[in-house]
Amino acid sequence: MSGALPPLQGGCLCGQLRYEATPTHRDGYYCHCRMCQLAFGNTRAAYFNLRKDQVRWLNDPPTYYVSSKIARRGFCGRCGTPLSFEFLDGENIDLSVGSLDAPGALRPTEHFAVESRVAGWHVDDGLPGSRLDSNEKIAQRWRAAYGDAEPGLNTVRGAGSIGPSATPPKDSA
Ligand SMILES: [Zn+2]
Ligand SMILES: [Zn+2]
Repeated sequence: MSGALPPLQGGCLCGQLRYEATPTHRDGYYCHCRMCQLAFGNTRAAYFNLRKDQVRWLNDPPTYYVSSKIARRGFCGRCGTPLSFEFLDGENIDLSVGSLDAPGALRPTEHFAVESRVAGWHVDDGLPGSRLDSNEKIAQRWRAAYGDAEPGLNTVRGAGSIGPSATPPKDSA
């Protein structure tokens, strides 16, 4: 932990959205879950994790896709660059490594959601991996939001919305 690291800057492809991030580390990770694969249009997503109050959007905030009742994904509404992922009830946020001005400032340290990793598109790099479906914290969030419904894409596909947060359906509407 060092508060002396310089801030990182990044933004989207078209340049409309810019951010400054002040993580106290230089570690990133890969997420191989199906929802990140679709959100990024890629075989995996690369993120770094930091506190929400360590991110400052310099122009406008991103557009958010509320991808489930428990999380939202920030992107540029003009050019589509994926920028962030966050649990609504968490104090942390993930930013996409590729949106950094200098992605090489970070190093990958682990793989997440390895049960959906696409084998033919993965070269073993010796980094440790863990499964999404054995992450108890996420399972608890999921059960609180969806009860017994199957975790992941099959339950939420088609149900997401554009918005600042996951607003539960109104009882009266
Ligand atoms: Zn853009
Ligand atoms: Zn993911």
